[in-house]
Amino acid sequence: MLDKRLFYINGQWTSPAVARDLNVIDPSTEEPCAVISIGDQADTDAAVAAAFAAFPAWADTAPSVRIDYVRKILDQYNLRKEEMAKAISMEMGAPMSMSRDDQAECLPWHLNNFLKAFEEIEWIRPLRADTPNDRIALEPIGVVGLITPWNWPMNQVTLKVIPALIAGCTIVMKPSEESPLSSMLFAEFCHDAGLPAGVFNLVNGDGMGVGTQLSAHNDVQMISFTGSTRAGRAISKTAAETMKRVTLELGGKGANLVFADADANAVKRGVKHCMYNSGQSCNAPTRMLVERSYYDQAVEIAREVAESIKVGPASQEGNHIGPVVNKRQWDQIQGYIQKGIDEGARLIAGGLGLPEGMNKGFYVRPTVFADVKPGMTIEKEEIFGPVLSIIPFDTEEEAVRIANDTVYGLTNYVQSSDGVRRNRLARVLKSGMVEMNGKSRAPGAPFGGVKASGRAREGGTWGIEEFLEVKAISGWDPDAEELAAE
Ligand code: NAD
Repeated sequence: MLDKRLFYINGQWTSPAVARDLNVIDPSTEEPCAVISIGDQADTDAAVAAAFAAFPAWADTAPSVRIDYVRKILDQYNLRKEEMAKAISMEMGAPMSMSRDDQAECLPWHLNNFLKAFEEIEWIRPLRADTPNDRIALEPIGVVGLITPWNWPMNQVTLKVIPALIAGCTIVMKPSEESPLSSMLFAEFCHDAGLPAGVFNLVNGDGMGVGTQLSAHNDVQMISFTGSTRAGRAISKTAAETMKRVTLELGGKGANLVFADADANAVKRGVKHCMYNSGQSCNAPTRMLVERSYYDQAVEIAREVAESIKVGPASQEGNHIGPVVNKRQWDQIQGYIQKGIDEGARLIAGGLGLPEGMNKGFYVRPTVFADVKPGMTIEKEEIFGPVLSIIPFDTEEEAVRIANDTVYGLTNYVQSSDGVRRNRLARVLKSGMVEMNGKSRAPGAPFGGVKASGRAREGGTWGIEEFLEVKAISGWDPDAEELAAE
């Protein structure tokens, strides 16, 4: 078992103020794979103090120098990417092939996209051509607290740490206590990249402890959070006392509108996307809305696809799905499957209990319900497991009404060969993102939602601007600027 009891504070691996161990459980085996420490107020304070002390010099560093450090973090990843894939796979259950190709690779993907976005940031610019004495300056907000979940650990860490560094902020990160190992390896990357002491700090802990302490801390100017709507609400309340900026990336209940003129792979793609990462993605298309004339055919395809999805241990290579992260999630998902049955949805694949032949590990059967009605629990609530709800619709208006009738608004999806319809729907669906015909968003597009999905925008220039303050300056002397440049 790995001993990972230290925190990374002020450029050093440091013992916790008070010893409090927590086992990290491998969800494939239900056995402990590592032990970490749960931080105390004194650890949070030490990390914030280090970040606070490091802030003035880091904020003053030329952006091009900060970018050089970010490139060095990428070099470290390239040297140790297999370790990263293994850490993620072990802590949260992503099968090795997927962990290597997708989970770990989120780091270089987002990092490289931020390197491009950086080129577009104008740190100081005239307000308009007719206001020669006005300037708009972008300045780092200060010490930022980054709180991340377990489902896509390096995705979320990279989407927060890299833009914060580029912006000139210093950082205290609290990764999920379920998946701390990848973040601790990331801290090693920062250390070996030569980041100045105090610029990046990591304290492990739980939400009630370190998470709340960071949200309440006087010297933390901003919390960037990804996770449940419940925790997002708690953080917002705690942070209100100190008037912090809070950016929230929360849950979702994405609708996937499949019209009869959709391409032949649309249903298959939708089912696989829903089940990917064992259904533990906030942007998963968990409600498949199918036009009535295509409904029976779509249900049959969905059943076949779900039954073809293999479930297996994370340590194995292959294109199976792994377990869900922990017993609590497993129990919660079972509760939702039972609710689906009780409320009268038609179970067409998967169902309750462990997959056949398994007696250990938090494995869930890829599950599909047909004839789901708007308002049923499985249609309304985020399940965060491999469970798909299929709902028929008769008209486009009805589909939009069902899609939008949710507290969430992260990603909606449209499958149709009619471009006019697609463009129309893209504008009326209430979500931060709309993905159509299986086309992924281009690099640099912002990720984020509306309503109970939070209001953060991560990635691209938007993702960097989240960590910046806008300063409006008047009385600027443009001649002096030219003189300084000579
Ligand atoms: P969570 O929100 O409880 O935890 C996420 C992170 O927030 C962890 O680091 C946790 O320690 C921290 N945290 C929890 N409560 C906090 C508080 N009061 N103050 C400060 N920090 C706090 O999520 P979870 O328990 O890991 O998962 C529960 C549900 O959250 C899931 O079932 C799923 O619906 C949702 N979820 C969504 C996402 C997403 O990407 N939107 C990711 C993970 C989980």
